[in-house]
Amino acid sequence: MSSDGKPVLQKPAESVLDLIGNTPMVRVSHLDTGPCELYLKLESQNPGGSIKDRIGLEMIHAAEDEGKLKPGGTIIEATAGNTGLGLALVAAQKGYKLKLVIPDKMSRDKIMHLQALGAEVILTRSDVAKGHPEYYQDVALRLASETPGSFFVNQFANEANPRAHEKTTAPEIWQQMDGRIDAFIAGVGSGGTITGIGQYLKRQDPKVEIIVADPEGSIVAEAVNTGSIPNSVGSWVVEGIGEDFIPDTLDLGVVDCGITVGDKEALMTGRDLLRKEGILGGSSSGTLIAAALRYCREQTSLKRVVTFVCDTGNKYLNKAYNDYWMEDQGFIKRQKFGDLRDFVS
Ligand code: PMP
Repeated sequence: MSSDGKPVLQKPAESVLDLIGNTPMVRVSHLDTGPCELYLKLESQNPGGSIKDRIGLEMIHAAEDEGKLKPGGTIIEATAGNTGLGLALVAAQKGYKLKLVIPDKMSRDKIMHLQALGAEVILTRSDVAKGHPEYYQDVALRLASETPGSFFVNQFANEANPRAHEKTTAPEIWQQMDGRIDAFIAGVGSGGTITGIGQYLKRQDPKVEIIVADPEGSIVAEAVNTGSIPNSVGSWVVEGIGEDFIPDTLDLGVVDCGITVGDKEALMTGRDLLRKEGILGGSSSGTLIAAALRYCREQTSLKRVVTFVCDTGNKYLNKAYNDYWMEDQGFIKRQKFGDLRDFVS
């Protein structure tokens, strides 16, 4: 609002790419945050629906600046996740071809969304591990070596990934919080988010606690808390975060501690977030907010805590927000009975 009480509206943008970032922040008002204030940065409001739009833009700009990507060139990446959507959005606007190598277990909706954005999708086996010729990252690497004028993005080792957050997300958070933050909580997929933001916040105020929220079964929280890499990995249904290796883009030194959250707690927290705060977030947001709420309730004095709604929950309506799917996973016992199952794939 301006001083005369009128809302301050932004002027029209020149391109959808100008609408990436500058996301709003909202304070949690109904969930129990103990003595703390919990703030959510709504990355779900980016045009591609997730925090990954930011790195799509920065990694493509960096490749252009470094001469790795020329007009009409081909961008190659191995992902079915939000990075694919972010890259597809930017590639379509800038006229690049985009080839995405995707394991065949990924949802049809995601694949169709990527194809609708103009990406060429190459499906590969989901049941093989790193080193197998059909492993999705190895297929992408090979494709890049065979495609003239191509650029292999490789978000797990691309410095422009954490840099996107250091340049944009972190200063936005610092400004929105008036420089008063006690703790920041994020998940790790590639590690770009927590590394870029963690390094920036520690420079502003070394007392800011940087906390990783990690799905049960992932190795990241344990690696942070014990200082050694666990040798066993589990599985989890939350999407976009949790790892079975430490990516090059993750600076473990910036992370103070890890909180592990099981799938049920994560998804139930996401459902609570929608009912109580009116925010439709994805599954990783449930992990982050569950960890943040636990942290907040353990405090004995007021702390200002920041975390994310990483992506929109629209993509998960048929999972976390579908009572039948939740019951099949053993997470809830349905109270109401109807014939909805006939319409659910
Ligand atoms: N949440 C979601 C929904 C994501 O897709 C990702 C990235 N895979 C993350 C969180 C984690 O971000 P980062 O890769 O920067 O660690």
